[in-house]
Amino acid sequence: MQNLDTVLQGTKRELIKLKKEKEVFTELERKEENFNKIIESIEGLERTKRETNRKKRDSLDKYYDPGKYDTAFYYVKSIEENNIKRTENFNPGISEKCPDCGKEALALMSYSQTYDSPEGDTWEKEAFIIHCDKIHYLKKIARSNRFL
Ligand SMILES: [Zn+2]
Repeated sequence: MQNLDTVLQGTKRELIKLKKEKEVFTELERKEENFNKIIESIEGLERTKRETNRKKRDSLDKYYDPGKYDTAFYYVKSIEENNIKRTENFNPGISEKCPDCGKEALALMSYSQTYDSPEGDTWEKEAFIIHCDKIHYLKKIARSNRFL
């Protein structure tokens, strides 16, 4: 005859194993997301530069509105109390120490409209560095209007 107590104990053991595997999976997903963000940031920096320069060359071309329909990326000139300022002409700016290894890494920033409604918008800037295969966030600022 089936012993339900044995079934219960066996199921509990399997559940504990499964939970450990899920933790590993969650960690891998976090890593994957992190890698995607690194790629998005570096490719985004190139794309923002390209779009900005295209606008300068051809004034008849469609107006590029950084951060409106994409996330724009820049190098950081300064991180202030209430603002993160970008450098001009995509020149590298300040560096910050990596919290993992202590080496200096170029500060980057993202800029985008994260909310759009008749009642009000939200525009966000976020400064970060990429080092030791990770994104390390430095500061995040939000406002209700464009503030490049
Ligand atoms: Zn590092």
